[in-house]
Amino acid sequence: MGKSKVTAKPNPTSGECRHATRNPCRLCTPFGACMVFHGISGCVPFIHGSQGCATYIRRYLIGHYREPVDIACSNFAEPTTVFGGKQNLETGLINVAAQYVPEMIGICTTCLAETIGDDVPMFLHEITKQHPDLPRLVQVATPSYCGTHTDGFNQAVRSVVEALAQSGAKHHGVNLFSGMLSPADLRYLKEIMTDFGLAATVLPDYSDSFDGEVWGQYKKNIEHGTAIADIEKAGGARASIEFYSTASSKKSAGGYLLERFGTPYYGMPIPISVKDTDRFLSVVSQLSGRVPPDKYDGERGRLIDAYVDGHKYVFEKRAVVYGEECLVVSLASFLSEIGIVPALCASGGHSGRLRDALAEQIPEMMPDVTVLEDTDFWDIAEAAKAVRPDLIIGNSNGYKLKRELGIPLIRVGLPIHDRIGASRILHVGYRGAQQLYDRIVNALIEQQQEESSVGYTHI
Ligand code: SF4
Repeated sequence: MGKSKVTAKPNPTSGECRHATRNPCRLCTPFGACMVFHGISGCVPFIHGSQGCATYIRRYLIGHYREPVDIACSNFAEPTTVFGGKQNLETGLINVAAQYVPEMIGICTTCLAETIGDDVPMFLHEITKQHPDLPRLVQVATPSYCGTHTDGFNQAVRSVVEALAQSGAKHHGVNLFSGMLSPADLRYLKEIMTDFGLAATVLPDYSDSFDGEVWGQYKKNIEHGTAIADIEKAGGARASIEFYSTASSKKSAGGYLLERFGTPYYGMPIPISVKDTDRFLSVVSQLSGRVPPDKYDGERGRLIDAYVDGHKYVFEKRAVVYGEECLVVSLASFLSEIGIVPALCASGGHSGRLRDALAEQIPEMMPDVTVLEDTDFWDIAEAAKAVRPDLIIGNSNGYKLKRELGIPLIRVGLPIHDRIGASRILHVGYRGAQQLYDRIVNALIEQQQEESSVGYTHI
Protein backbone atom coordinates (compact mmCIF):
# COMPACT_ATOMS: atom_id res chain seq x y z
CA MET A 1 0.00 0.00 0.00
CA GLY A 2 1.17 3.55 -0.44
CA LYS A 3 2.50 5.56 -3.30
CA SER A 4 4.55 3.76 -5.93
CA LYS A 5 7.54 5.55 -7.32
CA VAL A 6 8.03 5.35 -11.02
CA THR A 7 11.15 7.46 -11.29
CA ALA A 8 14.55 6.01 -10.62
CA LYS A 9 15.86 7.24 -7.32
CA PRO A 10 19.38 6.75 -6.03
CA ASN A 11 19.82 4.78 -2.85
CA PRO A 12 21.12 7.20 -0.19
CA THR A 13 24.14 5.09 0.65
CA SER A 14 24.92 2.84 -2.33
CA GLY A 15 23.95 5.24 -5.11
CA GLU A 16 22.08 2.36 -6.82
CA CYS A 17 18.92 3.48 -8.62
CA ARG A 18 15.55 1.92 -7.84
CA HIS A 19 12.16 2.10 -9.45
CA ALA A 20 9.72 1.11 -6.73
CA THR A 21 8.95 1.59 -3.07
CA ARG A 22 9.98 -1.38 -0.98
CA ASN A 23 8.17 -1.62 2.38
CA PRO A 24 6.73 1.90 2.49
CA CYS A 25 7.21 4.01 5.58
CA ARG A 26 3.64 5.32 5.41
CA LEU A 27 0.07 4.11 5.25
CA CYS A 28 -2.64 4.99 2.77
CA THR A 29 -4.31 8.39 2.67
CA PRO A 30 -7.96 7.46 3.41
CA PHE A 31 -6.64 5.59 6.47
CA GLY A 32 -5.89 8.94 8.15
CA ALA A 33 -9.24 10.39 7.08
CA CYS A 34 -11.10 7.41 8.56
CA MET A 35 -9.32 7.98 11.89
CA VAL A 36 -10.62 11.55 11.96
CA PHE A 37 -14.21 10.59 11.09
CA HIS A 38 -14.11 7.85 13.75
CA GLY A 39 -13.22 10.53 16.31
CA ILE A 40 -16.36 12.61 15.73
CA SER A 41 -19.49 11.77 17.68
CA GLY A 42 -22.30 10.46 15.52
CA CYS A 43 -20.13 10.16 12.41
CA VAL A 44 -19.66 7.07 10.22
CA PRO A 45 -16.54 6.86 8.01
CA PHE A 46 -17.45 5.97 4.42
CA ILE A 47 -14.95 4.99 1.75
CA HIS A 48 -15.91 5.67 -1.88
CA GLY A 49 -14.10 2.93 -3.76
CA SER A 50 -13.33 -0.76 -3.55
CA GLN A 51 -14.11 -2.84 -0.52
CA GLY A 52 -10.52 -4.12 -0.29
CA CYS A 53 -9.41 -0.62 0.66
CA ALA A 54 -11.98 -0.49 3.47
CA THR A 55 -10.94 -3.95 4.63
CA TYR A 56 -7.26 -3.03 4.66
CA ILE A 57 -7.92 0.12 6.68
CA ARG A 58 -10.23 -1.66 9.12
CA ARG A 59 -7.72 -4.47 9.56
CA TYR A 60 -4.90 -2.04 10.31
CA LEU A 61 -6.97 0.03 12.74
CA ILE A 62 -8.30 -3.05 14.54
CA GLY A 63 -4.80 -4.57 14.73
CA HIS A 64 -3.41 -1.40 16.27
CA TYR A 65 -6.24 -0.35 18.60
CA ARG A 66 -7.79 -3.78 19.22
CA GLU A 67 -11.28 -2.34 19.06
CA PRO A 68 -14.11 -2.96 16.58
CA VAL A 69 -14.07 -0.41 13.75
CA ASP A 70 -16.88 -0.06 11.22
CA ILE A 71 -16.06 1.60 7.91
CA ALA A 72 -18.75 1.76 5.23
CA CYS A 73 -17.86 1.44 1.56
CA SER A 74 -19.47 2.08 -1.82
CA ASN A 75 -18.11 -1.27 -2.95
CA PHE A 76 -16.86 -0.70 -6.48
CA ALA A 77 -17.10 -3.55 -8.96
CA GLU A 78 -16.18 -3.75 -12.67
CA PRO A 79 -19.22 -1.80 -13.98
CA THR A 80 -18.66 0.92 -11.36
CA THR A 81 -15.07 1.25 -12.46
CA VAL A 82 -16.13 1.70 -16.08
CA PHE A 83 -19.24 3.84 -15.67
CA GLY A 84 -18.50 5.69 -12.42
CA GLY A 85 -19.55 5.24 -8.82
CA LYS A 86 -22.43 7.67 -8.34
CA GLN A 87 -25.12 4.98 -8.07
CA ASN A 88 -23.08 2.98 -5.56
CA LEU A 89 -22.38 6.10 -3.53
CA GLU A 90 -26.06 7.01 -3.43
CA THR A 91 -27.17 3.51 -2.43
CA GLY A 92 -24.40 3.26 0.15
CA LEU A 93 -25.26 6.57 1.80
CA ILE A 94 -28.95 5.68 1.98
CA ASN A 95 -28.09 2.32 3.56
CA VAL A 96 -25.69 3.80 6.09
CA ALA A 97 -28.21 6.49 7.04
CA ALA A 98 -30.85 3.80 7.63
CA GLN A 99 -28.58 1.37 9.49
CA TYR A 100 -26.60 3.72 11.73
CA VAL A 101 -28.87 6.78 11.93
CA PRO A 102 -25.74 8.99 12.10
CA GLU A 103 -25.56 12.76 12.44
CA MET A 104 -22.87 12.86 9.79
CA ILE A 105 -21.19 10.64 7.21
CA GLY A 106 -17.53 11.35 6.47
CA ILE A 107 -16.69 10.37 2.91
CA CYS A 108 -13.16 9.81 1.64
CA THR A 109 -12.04 8.49 -1.71
CA THR A 110 -9.73 5.68 -2.75
CA CYS A 111 -7.11 5.61 -5.51
CA LEU A 112 -9.57 3.94 -7.88
CA ALA A 113 -12.38 6.47 -7.44
CA GLU A 114 -9.89 9.31 -7.94
CA THR A 115 -8.24 7.67 -10.96
CA ILE A 116 -11.49 7.18 -12.87
CA GLY A 117 -12.30 10.81 -12.11
CA ASP A 118 -15.46 10.49 -10.01
CA ASP A 119 -16.61 14.03 -9.24
CA VAL A 120 -17.69 13.31 -5.66
CA PRO A 121 -18.62 16.91 -4.70
CA MET A 122 -20.99 17.04 -7.70
CA PHE A 123 -22.39 13.57 -6.89
CA LEU A 124 -23.08 14.67 -3.31
CA HIS A 125 -24.73 17.86 -4.49
CA GLU A 126 -27.10 15.85 -6.69
CA ILE A 127 -27.68 13.10 -4.11
CA THR A 128 -28.58 15.54 -1.33
CA LYS A 129 -31.00 17.32 -3.66
CA GLN A 130 -32.77 14.01 -4.28
CA HIS A 131 -32.52 12.84 -0.67
CA PRO A 132 -32.76 15.93 1.53
CA ASP A 133 -33.25 13.82 4.67
CA LEU A 134 -29.75 12.32 4.49
CA PRO A 135 -27.50 13.28 7.41
CA ARG A 136 -24.79 15.90 6.97
CA LEU A 137 -22.17 14.76 4.43
CA VAL A 138 -18.53 15.87 4.66
CA GLN A 139 -16.16 14.86 1.89
CA VAL A 140 -12.38 14.78 1.53
CA ALA A 141 -10.41 13.74 -1.56
CA THR A 142 -7.75 11.22 -0.51
CA PRO A 143 -5.95 9.68 -3.50
CA SER A 144 -3.21 7.62 -1.90
CA TYR A 145 -0.78 8.09 -4.78
CA CYS A 146 -0.56 11.77 -3.82
CA GLY A 147 -0.21 11.51 -0.08
CA THR A 148 0.26 9.62 3.14
CA HIS A 149 -2.01 8.68 6.04
CA THR A 150 -0.88 11.90 7.75
CA ASP A 151 -1.98 13.96 4.75
CA GLY A 152 -5.36 12.21 4.80
CA PHE A 153 -5.68 12.89 8.51
CA ASN A 154 -4.83 16.59 8.24
CA GLN A 155 -6.95 17.11 5.13
CA ALA A 156 -9.93 15.47 6.84
CA VAL A 157 -9.59 17.70 9.92
CA ARG A 158 -9.51 20.74 7.68
CA SER A 159 -12.47 19.53 5.57
CA VAL A 160 -14.56 18.93 8.69
CA VAL A 161 -13.75 22.39 10.03
CA GLU A 162 -14.43 24.03 6.66
CA ALA A 163 -17.77 22.26 6.40
CA LEU A 164 -19.00 22.76 9.96
CA ALA A 165 -17.34 25.74 11.65
CA GLN A 166 -19.27 28.99 11.82
CA SER A 167 -18.34 32.39 13.16
CA GLY A 168 -21.05 32.41 15.84
CA ALA A 169 -20.71 34.11 19.20
CA LYS A 170 -17.22 34.49 20.63
CA HIS A 171 -16.57 32.11 23.52
CA HIS A 172 -13.72 31.18 25.84
CA GLY A 173 -13.17 27.67 24.52
CA VAL A 174 -10.02 26.59 22.69
CA ASN A 175 -9.72 24.41 19.58
CA LEU A 176 -7.01 21.77 19.94
CA PHE A 177 -5.92 20.12 16.69
CA SER A 178 -3.56 17.59 18.20
CA GLY A 179 -2.76 15.48 15.14
CA MET A 180 -2.33 11.73 15.04
CA LEU A 181 -1.72 10.89 18.71
CA SER A 182 -2.73 7.94 20.87
CA PRO A 183 -5.96 7.75 22.91
CA ALA A 184 -3.78 8.06 26.07
CA ASP A 185 -2.29 11.28 24.66
CA LEU A 186 -5.73 12.72 23.94
CA ARG A 187 -6.90 11.93 27.47
CA TYR A 188 -3.84 13.60 28.97
CA LEU A 189 -4.26 16.69 26.79
CA LYS A 190 -7.89 16.99 27.86
CA GLU A 191 -6.80 16.63 31.49
CA ILE A 192 -4.32 19.46 31.03
CA MET A 193 -6.93 21.74 29.48
CA THR A 194 -9.39 20.96 32.28
CA ASP A 195 -6.72 21.63 34.91
CA PHE A 196 -6.25 25.10 33.41
CA GLY A 197 -10.02 25.69 33.36
CA LEU A 198 -10.20 25.73 29.56
CA ALA A 199 -13.07 24.15 27.62
CA ALA A 200 -11.26 22.43 24.76
CA THR A 201 -12.64 21.06 21.52
CA VAL A 202 -10.14 18.34 20.68
CA LEU A 203 -10.56 17.35 17.03
CA PRO A 204 -10.59 14.45 16.43
CA ASP A 205 -11.18 12.79 19.79
CA TYR A 206 -11.07 9.00 19.38
CA SER A 207 -9.89 8.42 22.95
CA ASP A 208 -13.02 6.38 23.72
CA SER A 209 -13.96 5.01 20.29
CA PHE A 210 -10.44 3.54 19.79
CA ASP A 211 -9.91 2.62 23.45
CA GLY A 212 -13.26 1.66 24.91
CA GLU A 213 -14.59 -0.60 27.60
CA VAL A 214 -15.64 -4.20 27.15
CA TRP A 215 -19.05 -4.65 25.53
CA GLY A 216 -21.75 -7.11 26.50
CA GLN A 217 -23.12 -6.95 22.96
CA TYR A 218 -22.27 -5.31 19.64
CA LYS A 219 -22.69 -1.54 19.46
CA LYS A 220 -22.36 0.81 16.52
CA ASN A 221 -19.50 2.59 18.30
CA ILE A 222 -20.23 6.03 16.86
CA GLU A 223 -21.46 7.79 19.97
CA HIS A 224 -18.02 8.85 21.22
CA GLY A 225 -15.86 11.68 19.96
CA THR A 226 -15.87 15.39 19.30
CA ALA A 227 -19.39 16.82 19.37
CA ILE A 228 -20.50 18.29 16.06
CA ALA A 229 -22.08 21.20 17.96
CA ASP A 230 -18.63 22.06 19.38
CA ILE A 231 -17.00 21.97 15.94
CA GLU A 232 -19.69 24.35 14.71
CA LYS A 233 -18.55 26.84 17.37
CA ALA A 234 -14.85 26.58 16.40
CA GLY A 235 -14.82 29.93 14.58
CA GLY A 236 -15.75 31.80 17.77
CA ALA A 237 -13.12 30.13 19.96
CA ARG A 238 -10.55 32.10 21.92
CA ALA A 239 -7.78 30.42 19.95
CA SER A 240 -6.68 27.33 18.06
CA ILE A 241 -3.66 25.31 19.13
CA GLU A 242 -2.25 23.01 16.48
CA PHE A 243 0.60 20.48 16.72
CA TYR A 244 2.11 20.78 13.30
CA SER A 245 5.82 21.13 12.49
CA THR A 246 6.21 20.21 8.86
CA ALA A 247 3.38 21.82 6.93
CA SER A 248 2.20 25.28 6.14
CA SER A 249 -0.51 26.60 8.44
CA LYS A 250 -2.21 27.83 5.27
CA LYS A 251 -3.31 24.25 4.62
CA SER A 252 -4.29 23.39 8.17
CA ALA A 253 -7.57 23.58 10.09
CA GLY A 254 -6.20 26.19 12.49
CA GLY A 255 -4.88 28.22 9.55
CA TYR A 256 -8.32 28.10 7.94
CA LEU A 257 -10.02 29.38 11.11
CA LEU A 258 -7.51 32.20 11.39
CA GLU A 259 -8.07 33.24 7.80
CA ARG A 260 -11.86 32.78 7.75
CA PHE A 261 -12.87 33.96 11.25
CA GLY A 262 -9.74 35.59 12.66
CA THR A 263 -9.45 32.90 15.36
CA PRO A 264 -5.98 33.36 16.93
CA TYR A 265 -3.63 30.56 15.93
CA TYR A 266 -0.80 28.89 17.85
CA GLY A 267 1.13 26.31 15.82
CA MET A 268 3.78 24.28 17.61
CA PRO A 269 5.52 20.90 17.59
CA ILE A 270 3.98 17.92 19.36
CA PRO A 271 5.04 18.55 22.98
CA ILE A 272 7.30 15.65 23.96
CA SER A 273 10.56 17.25 25.09
CA VAL A 274 10.61 19.43 28.21
CA LYS A 275 11.31 22.40 25.96
CA ASP A 276 8.24 21.75 23.79
CA THR A 277 5.95 20.93 26.72
CA ASP A 278 7.08 24.13 28.46
CA ARG A 279 6.09 26.02 25.32
CA PHE A 280 2.70 24.31 25.11
CA LEU A 281 1.90 24.91 28.78
CA SER A 282 3.02 28.51 28.47
CA VAL A 283 0.47 29.08 25.68
CA VAL A 284 -2.25 27.26 27.64
CA SER A 285 -1.36 29.34 30.71
CA GLN A 286 -1.52 32.55 28.70
CA LEU A 287 -4.90 31.63 27.17
CA SER A 288 -6.39 30.60 30.50
CA GLY A 289 -4.86 33.41 32.54
CA ARG A 290 -3.79 30.81 35.13
CA VAL A 291 -0.36 29.67 36.27
CA PRO A 292 0.26 25.95 35.76
CA PRO A 293 -1.13 23.89 38.65
CA ASP A 294 1.48 22.49 41.07
CA LYS A 295 1.05 18.99 39.71
CA TYR A 296 2.81 20.01 36.47
CA ASP A 297 5.78 21.41 38.40
CA GLY A 298 5.91 18.03 40.13
CA GLU A 299 5.78 16.08 36.87
CA ARG A 300 8.45 18.30 35.34
CA GLY A 301 10.69 18.03 38.40
CA ARG A 302 10.46 14.23 38.52
CA LEU A 303 11.24 14.05 34.81
CA ILE A 304 14.38 16.16 35.17
CA ASP A 305 15.40 14.02 38.15
CA ALA A 306 15.00 10.91 35.98
CA TYR A 307 17.12 12.54 33.26
CA VAL A 308 19.91 12.93 35.83
CA ASP A 309 19.52 9.35 37.11
CA GLY A 310 19.62 7.78 33.66
CA HIS A 311 22.10 10.08 31.93
CA LYS A 312 25.02 7.66 32.09
CA TYR A 313 23.01 5.07 30.14
CA VAL A 314 21.86 7.32 27.31
CA PHE A 315 24.62 9.86 26.82
CA GLU A 316 26.01 9.86 23.26
CA LYS A 317 23.93 6.87 22.22
CA ARG A 318 22.72 6.99 18.62
CA ALA A 319 19.15 6.39 17.45
CA VAL A 320 17.24 5.70 14.25
CA VAL A 321 13.88 7.51 14.36
CA TYR A 322 11.14 7.05 11.74
CA GLY A 323 7.41 7.60 11.34
CA GLU A 324 5.13 10.55 10.69
CA GLU A 325 7.13 13.71 10.06
CA CYS A 326 5.75 15.71 12.99
CA LEU A 327 6.37 12.81 15.36
CA VAL A 328 9.93 12.37 14.08
CA VAL A 329 10.68 16.07 14.63
CA SER A 330 9.36 16.02 18.20
CA LEU A 331 11.09 12.74 19.05
CA ALA A 332 14.38 14.12 17.70
CA SER A 333 13.96 17.17 19.92
CA PHE A 334 13.34 14.93 22.93
CA LEU A 335 16.31 12.66 22.13
CA SER A 336 18.70 15.59 21.75
CA GLU A 337 17.49 16.88 25.12
CA ILE A 338 18.41 13.62 26.87
CA GLY A 339 21.79 13.30 25.15
CA ILE A 340 20.94 10.78 22.41
CA VAL A 341 21.94 11.67 18.85
CA PRO A 342 18.99 11.14 16.46
CA ALA A 343 21.50 9.94 13.90
CA LEU A 344 18.93 8.94 11.26
CA CYS A 345 15.57 10.73 11.01
CA ALA A 346 13.33 9.19 8.37
CA SER A 347 9.76 9.51 7.17
CA GLY A 348 7.62 8.41 4.27
CA GLY A 349 6.10 11.89 4.37
CA HIS A 350 6.98 14.21 1.56
CA SER A 351 6.18 17.70 2.75
CA GLY A 352 9.73 18.73 1.88
CA ARG A 353 9.89 20.40 5.31
CA LEU A 354 11.34 17.62 7.46
CA ARG A 355 14.98 18.75 7.24
CA ASP A 356 14.11 22.39 7.95
CA ALA A 357 11.84 21.47 10.84
CA LEU A 358 14.61 19.35 12.37
CA ALA A 359 17.11 22.15 11.84
CA GLU A 360 14.82 24.50 13.79
CA GLN A 361 14.52 22.04 16.66
CA ILE A 362 18.02 20.57 16.90
CA PRO A 363 20.37 22.96 15.03
CA GLU A 364 23.43 21.91 17.01
CA MET A 365 23.02 18.25 16.06
CA MET A 366 22.26 18.58 12.35
CA PRO A 367 25.84 17.97 11.16
CA ASP A 368 25.55 14.48 12.68
CA VAL A 369 22.01 13.74 11.47
CA THR A 370 21.05 11.90 8.28
CA VAL A 371 17.59 12.88 7.06
CA LEU A 372 15.54 10.67 4.73
CA GLU A 373 12.31 12.13 3.38
CA ASP A 374 9.76 10.36 1.19
CA THR A 375 11.56 7.14 2.00
CA ASP A 376 10.86 3.44 2.56
CA PHE A 377 12.17 0.77 4.91
CA TRP A 378 14.64 -0.51 2.33
CA ASP A 379 16.46 2.82 2.30
CA ILE A 380 16.07 3.24 6.06
CA ALA A 381 17.76 -0.14 6.59
CA GLU A 382 20.65 0.80 4.27
CA ALA A 383 21.16 4.18 5.90
CA ALA A 384 20.75 2.76 9.41
CA LYS A 385 23.74 0.45 8.93
CA ALA A 386 25.87 3.48 8.08
CA VAL A 387 24.99 5.52 11.18
CA ARG A 388 25.88 2.79 13.74
CA PRO A 389 22.74 3.09 15.91
CA ASP A 390 22.26 1.79 19.45
CA LEU A 391 18.47 1.82 19.32
CA ILE A 392 15.49 2.34 17.02
CA ILE A 393 12.42 4.41 17.80
CA GLY A 394 9.36 3.98 15.64
CA ASN A 395 6.36 1.80 14.88
CA SER A 396 6.21 -1.98 14.54
CA ASN A 397 7.15 -1.87 10.88
CA GLY A 398 10.79 -1.47 11.96
CA TYR A 399 10.86 -4.90 13.60
CA LYS A 400 12.75 -6.48 10.70
CA LEU A 401 15.40 -3.78 10.99
CA LYS A 402 15.66 -4.36 14.74
CA ARG A 403 16.28 -8.08 14.09
CA GLU A 404 18.90 -7.34 11.47
CA LEU A 405 20.80 -4.88 13.63
CA GLY A 406 20.26 -6.69 16.93
CA ILE A 407 19.34 -3.52 18.81
CA PRO A 408 16.22 -2.50 20.79
CA LEU A 409 13.11 -1.12 19.11
CA ILE A 410 11.13 1.33 21.23
CA ARG A 411 7.62 1.18 19.84
CA VAL A 412 5.88 4.52 19.40
CA GLY A 413 3.34 5.97 16.99
CA LEU A 414 1.29 3.87 14.61
CA PRO A 415 0.98 1.01 13.63
CA ILE A 416 1.89 -1.18 16.58
CA HIS A 417 0.41 -4.55 15.75
CA ASP A 418 2.92 -6.90 17.39
CA ARG A 419 2.23 -5.75 20.96
CA ILE A 420 -0.88 -4.89 22.93
CA GLY A 421 -1.45 -1.53 24.58
CA ALA A 422 -0.78 0.80 21.65
CA SER A 423 -3.74 2.94 22.75
CA ARG A 424 -2.16 3.39 26.15
CA ILE A 425 1.27 4.58 25.00
CA LEU A 426 1.65 8.13 26.22
CA HIS A 427 3.95 10.28 24.09
CA VAL A 428 3.13 13.86 25.07
CA GLY A 429 3.76 16.15 28.00
CA TYR A 430 6.08 15.64 30.94
CA ARG A 431 4.28 12.42 31.79
CA GLY A 432 4.69 11.05 28.26
CA ALA A 433 8.37 12.00 28.16
CA GLN A 434 8.81 10.26 31.52
CA GLN A 435 7.36 7.01 30.20
CA LEU A 436 9.35 7.24 26.99
CA TYR A 437 12.57 7.97 28.87
CA ASP A 438 12.11 5.01 31.23
CA ARG A 439 11.41 2.68 28.31
CA ILE A 440 14.50 3.87 26.43
CA VAL A 441 16.84 3.62 29.40
CA ASN A 442 15.53 0.21 30.42
CA ALA A 443 15.83 -1.12 26.86
CA LEU A 444 19.48 0.02 26.73
CA ILE A 445 20.23 -1.54 30.13
CA GLU A 446 18.58 -4.78 29.05
CA GLN A 447 20.60 -4.83 25.85
CA GLN A 448 23.79 -4.32 27.86
CA GLN A 449 22.88 -7.20 30.18
CA GLU A 450 21.97 -9.52 27.33
CA GLU A 451 25.24 -8.83 25.51
CA SER A 452 27.39 -9.22 28.63
CA SER A 453 29.37 -12.44 28.93
CA VAL A 454 28.96 -12.39 32.71
CA GLY A 455 25.31 -11.30 32.90
CA TYR A 456 24.16 -9.30 35.87
CA THR A 457 23.81 -9.79 39.62
CA HIS A 458 22.90 -7.38 42.37
CA ILE A 459 24.60 -7.75 45.72
S1 SF4 B 1 -6.80 3.72 -1.22
FE1 SF4 B 1 -5.13 3.19 -2.62
S2 SF4 B 1 -3.34 2.79 -1.27
FE2 SF4 B 1 -5.22 2.76 0.02
S3 SF4 B 1 -5.81 0.60 0.13
FE3 SF4 B 1 -6.95 1.51 -1.58
S4 SF4 B 1 -5.67 1.16 -3.40
FE4 SF4 B 1 -4.37 0.81 -1.60
